[in-house]
Amino acid sequence: MLVQLELLLDLQHIDLELGELVAEAEILPKRIQELEDEKESAKSEVRDSEVRLEEKQKARQKLERDLEDHGARLKDLESKRLVIKTNEEYAALTHEIGFTTQDISKTEDAALELMESESNIKRELAAAQESAATRAGEIDVKIGELTSELERLNDAIAIKRDERLRISTRIDKQTLLRYDRILASKGDFAVARIADGACEGCYVRLPAQMVIEVRKADRFIECESCGRILCWKPERDDG
Ligand SMILES: [Zn+2]
Repeated sequence: MLVQLELLLDLQHIDLELGELVAEAEILPKRIQELEDEKESAKSEVRDSEVRLEEKQKARQKLERDLEDHGARLKDLESKRLVIKTNEEYAALTHEIGFTTQDISKTEDAALELMESESNIKRELAAAQESAATRAGEIDVKIGELTSELERLNDAIAIKRDERLRISTRIDKQTLLRYDRILASKGDFAVARIADGACEGCYVRLPAQMVIEVRKADRFIECESCGRILCWKPERDDG
Protein backbone atom coordinates (compact mmCIF):
# COMPACT_ATOMS: atom_id res chain seq x y z
CA MET A 1 0.00 0.00 0.00
CA LEU A 2 1.00 3.54 -0.65
CA VAL A 3 3.16 4.52 2.32
CA GLN A 4 1.50 7.92 2.39
CA LEU A 5 -1.91 6.26 2.60
CA GLU A 6 -0.73 4.14 5.50
CA LEU A 7 0.49 7.26 7.23
CA LEU A 8 -2.87 8.94 6.58
CA LEU A 9 -4.58 5.96 8.18
CA ASP A 10 -2.33 6.28 11.22
CA LEU A 11 -3.09 9.98 11.31
CA GLN A 12 -6.81 9.27 11.03
CA HIS A 13 -6.59 6.78 13.86
CA ILE A 14 -4.98 9.44 16.04
CA ASP A 15 -7.50 12.06 14.96
CA LEU A 16 -10.39 9.80 15.91
CA GLU A 17 -8.90 9.20 19.35
CA LEU A 18 -8.06 12.87 19.67
CA GLY A 19 -11.64 13.79 18.76
CA GLU A 20 -13.00 11.51 21.47
CA LEU A 21 -10.59 12.84 24.08
CA VAL A 22 -11.37 16.45 23.19
CA ALA A 23 -15.12 15.77 23.30
CA GLU A 24 -14.75 14.15 26.72
CA ALA A 25 -12.60 17.00 28.00
CA GLU A 26 -14.96 19.67 26.69
CA ILE A 27 -17.87 18.39 28.78
CA LEU A 28 -16.00 18.52 32.08
CA PRO A 29 -15.66 22.27 32.71
CA LYS A 30 -19.42 22.63 32.20
CA ARG A 31 -20.11 19.81 34.67
CA ILE A 32 -17.73 21.34 37.18
CA GLN A 33 -19.49 24.68 36.76
CA GLU A 34 -22.89 23.05 37.29
CA LEU A 35 -21.64 21.54 40.54
CA GLU A 36 -20.23 24.90 41.65
CA ASP A 37 -23.63 26.46 40.87
CA GLU A 38 -25.40 23.78 42.89
CA LYS A 39 -23.13 24.50 45.84
CA GLU A 40 -23.80 28.20 45.47
CA SER A 41 -27.55 27.69 45.37
CA ALA A 42 -27.42 25.65 48.61
CA LYS A 43 -25.44 28.48 50.19
CA SER A 44 -27.96 31.03 49.00
CA GLU A 45 -30.78 29.02 50.61
CA VAL A 46 -28.88 29.30 53.87
CA ARG A 47 -28.41 33.02 53.34
CA ASP A 48 -32.16 33.45 52.68
CA SER A 49 -32.98 31.76 55.99
CA GLU A 50 -30.41 33.93 57.76
CA VAL A 51 -31.97 37.08 56.29
CA ARG A 52 -35.48 36.00 57.28
CA LEU A 53 -34.30 35.20 60.79
CA GLU A 54 -32.61 38.57 61.06
CA GLU A 55 -35.81 40.33 59.94
CA LYS A 56 -37.87 38.50 62.56
CA GLN A 57 -35.31 39.26 65.25
CA LYS A 58 -35.32 42.95 64.34
CA ALA A 59 -39.13 43.01 64.38
CA ARG A 60 -39.13 41.36 67.81
CA GLN A 61 -36.55 43.83 69.11
CA LYS A 62 -38.82 46.63 67.93
CA LEU A 63 -41.75 45.04 69.78
CA GLU A 64 -39.63 44.76 72.91
CA ARG A 65 -38.85 48.45 72.72
CA ASP A 66 -42.59 49.15 72.22
CA LEU A 67 -43.31 47.04 75.30
CA GLU A 68 -40.85 49.09 77.31
CA ASP A 69 -42.55 52.26 76.08
CA HIS A 70 -45.99 50.93 76.93
CA GLY A 71 -44.73 49.80 80.33
CA ALA A 72 -43.27 53.21 81.07
CA ARG A 73 -46.52 54.83 79.95
CA LEU A 74 -48.55 52.55 82.19
CA LYS A 75 -46.32 53.32 85.14
CA ASP A 76 -46.71 57.02 84.42
CA LEU A 77 -50.48 56.74 84.18
CA GLU A 78 -50.68 54.73 87.38
CA SER A 79 -48.63 57.32 89.23
CA LYS A 80 -51.17 59.94 88.15
CA ARG A 81 -53.89 58.06 90.06
CA LEU A 82 -52.40 59.49 93.26
CA VAL A 83 -52.95 63.04 92.16
CA ILE A 84 -56.38 62.70 90.56
CA LYS A 85 -58.84 65.33 91.74
CA THR A 86 -62.10 64.80 89.85
CA ASN A 87 -64.24 61.83 88.83
CA GLU A 88 -63.91 62.86 85.15
CA GLU A 89 -60.16 62.82 85.40
CA TYR A 90 -60.37 59.42 87.08
CA ALA A 91 -62.61 58.05 84.30
CA ALA A 92 -60.30 59.39 81.57
CA LEU A 93 -57.27 57.96 83.28
CA THR A 94 -58.88 54.55 83.77
CA HIS A 95 -59.83 54.58 80.11
CA GLU A 96 -56.27 55.37 79.08
CA ILE A 97 -54.84 52.73 81.41
CA GLY A 98 -57.22 50.25 79.81
CA PHE A 99 -55.95 51.12 76.36
CA THR A 100 -52.33 50.91 77.37
CA THR A 101 -52.90 47.54 79.03
CA GLN A 102 -54.51 46.33 75.81
CA ASP A 103 -51.55 47.63 73.80
CA ILE A 104 -49.20 45.75 76.09
CA SER A 105 -51.16 42.57 75.73
CA LYS A 106 -51.31 42.86 71.92
CA THR A 107 -47.60 43.63 71.71
CA GLU A 108 -46.80 40.65 73.94
CA ASP A 109 -48.90 38.38 71.73
CA ALA A 110 -47.18 39.66 68.61
CA ALA A 111 -43.76 39.20 70.22
CA LEU A 112 -44.68 35.64 71.16
CA GLU A 113 -45.76 34.88 67.62
CA LEU A 114 -42.49 36.26 66.33
CA MET A 115 -40.56 34.15 68.79
CA GLU A 116 -42.34 31.06 67.53
CA SER A 117 -41.66 31.92 63.93
CA GLU A 118 -38.03 32.70 64.85
CA SER A 119 -37.60 29.26 66.32
CA ASN A 120 -39.12 27.72 63.17
CA ILE A 121 -36.69 29.67 61.02
CA LYS A 122 -33.82 28.66 63.28
CA ARG A 123 -34.73 25.01 62.75
CA GLU A 124 -34.97 25.57 58.97
CA LEU A 125 -31.66 27.40 59.04
CA ALA A 126 -29.94 24.60 60.94
CA ALA A 127 -31.34 22.03 58.47
CA ALA A 128 -30.33 24.17 55.47
CA GLN A 129 -26.83 24.65 56.91
CA GLU A 130 -26.43 20.96 57.55
CA SER A 131 -27.62 19.89 54.12
CA ALA A 132 -25.57 22.62 52.42
CA ALA A 133 -22.46 21.49 54.28
CA THR A 134 -23.07 17.82 53.44
CA ARG A 135 -23.79 18.61 49.79
CA ALA A 136 -20.78 20.94 49.58
CA GLY A 137 -18.59 18.13 50.89
CA GLU A 138 -19.93 15.69 48.29
CA ILE A 139 -19.63 18.29 45.54
CA ASP A 140 -16.03 19.09 46.47
CA VAL A 141 -15.13 15.40 46.21
CA LYS A 142 -16.86 15.18 42.82
CA ILE A 143 -15.20 18.37 41.58
CA GLY A 144 -11.86 16.99 42.71
CA GLU A 145 -12.48 13.81 40.71
CA LEU A 146 -13.60 15.72 37.62
CA THR A 147 -10.61 18.06 37.86
CA SER A 148 -8.19 15.12 37.99
CA GLU A 149 -10.08 13.54 35.09
CA LEU A 150 -9.75 16.77 33.12
CA GLU A 151 -6.02 16.89 33.85
CA ARG A 152 -5.66 13.28 32.74
CA LEU A 153 -7.56 14.01 29.52
CA ASN A 154 -5.53 17.15 28.84
CA ASP A 155 -2.31 15.17 29.29
CA ALA A 156 -3.62 12.47 26.93
CA ILE A 157 -4.63 15.15 24.40
CA ALA A 158 -1.16 16.70 24.57
CA ILE A 159 0.41 13.28 23.95
CA LYS A 160 -1.93 12.60 21.01
CA ARG A 161 -1.23 16.03 19.52
CA ASP A 162 2.45 15.28 19.78
CA GLU A 163 1.94 11.92 18.06
CA ARG A 164 -0.10 13.65 15.38
CA LEU A 165 2.64 16.17 14.81
CA ARG A 166 5.26 13.41 14.48
CA ILE A 167 3.21 11.54 11.88
CA SER A 168 2.25 14.76 10.06
CA THR A 169 5.88 15.58 9.42
CA ARG A 170 6.23 12.29 7.54
CA ILE A 171 3.29 13.02 5.24
CA ASP A 172 3.96 15.18 2.22
CA LYS A 173 2.49 18.63 2.43
CA GLN A 174 -0.02 18.32 -0.42
CA THR A 175 -1.39 15.04 0.92
CA LEU A 176 -1.71 16.46 4.42
CA LEU A 177 -3.52 19.53 3.08
CA ARG A 178 -5.84 17.28 1.13
CA TYR A 179 -6.53 15.15 4.20
CA ASP A 180 -7.12 18.18 6.44
CA ARG A 181 -9.40 19.77 3.85
CA ILE A 182 -11.57 16.63 3.55
CA LEU A 183 -11.61 16.13 7.32
CA ALA A 184 -12.65 19.74 7.91
CA SER A 185 -15.46 19.51 5.36
CA LYS A 186 -16.72 16.09 6.51
CA GLY A 187 -16.23 16.59 10.22
CA ASP A 188 -15.71 12.90 10.98
CA PHE A 189 -13.05 11.20 8.87
CA ALA A 190 -11.24 11.72 5.57
CA VAL A 191 -10.12 8.22 4.57
CA ALA A 192 -12.98 5.82 3.85
CA ARG A 193 -12.53 2.10 3.38
CA ILE A 194 -14.54 0.12 0.91
CA ALA A 195 -16.98 -2.23 2.57
CA ASP A 196 -19.13 -4.54 0.44
CA GLY A 197 -18.32 -2.54 -2.65
CA ALA A 198 -19.50 0.73 -1.14
CA CYS A 199 -17.74 3.76 0.32
CA GLU A 200 -18.05 3.55 4.11
CA GLY A 201 -18.23 7.34 4.25
CA CYS A 202 -21.35 7.84 2.17
CA TYR A 203 -22.52 4.23 1.55
CA VAL A 204 -22.69 4.86 -2.20
CA ARG A 205 -21.77 1.79 -4.30
CA LEU A 206 -18.56 2.20 -6.25
CA PRO A 207 -17.95 1.11 -9.85
CA ALA A 208 -16.16 -2.26 -9.94
CA GLN A 209 -13.28 -0.76 -11.90
CA MET A 210 -12.78 1.88 -9.20
CA VAL A 211 -12.67 -0.80 -6.50
CA ILE A 212 -9.93 -2.56 -8.45
CA GLU A 213 -8.01 0.71 -8.80
CA VAL A 214 -8.34 1.44 -5.09
CA ARG A 215 -7.14 -2.08 -4.28
CA LYS A 216 -3.99 -1.51 -6.26
CA ALA A 217 -3.26 1.39 -3.93
CA ASP A 218 -0.72 2.99 -6.21
CA ARG A 219 -2.41 6.43 -6.17
CA PHE A 220 -4.99 8.37 -4.18
CA ILE A 221 -8.55 7.89 -5.39
CA GLU A 222 -11.35 9.99 -3.95
CA CYS A 223 -14.96 8.84 -3.70
CA GLU A 224 -16.89 10.65 -6.42
CA SER A 225 -19.88 10.97 -4.16
CA CYS A 226 -18.43 12.23 -0.85
CA GLY A 227 -14.88 13.18 -1.79
CA ARG A 228 -13.20 11.05 0.87
CA ILE A 229 -9.94 9.29 0.03
CA LEU A 230 -10.74 5.65 -0.66
CA CYS A 231 -8.86 2.76 0.84
CA TRP A 232 -9.18 -0.99 0.47
CA LYS A 233 -10.29 -2.37 3.86
CA PRO A 234 -7.55 -0.79 5.89
CA GLU A 235 -7.06 -2.10 9.38
CA ARG A 236 -8.89 0.43 11.43
CA ASP A 237 -9.15 0.03 15.14
CA ASP A 238 -11.41 2.76 16.42
CA GLY A 239 -10.68 2.07 20.07
ZN1 LIG B 1 -18.03 8.23 -0.36
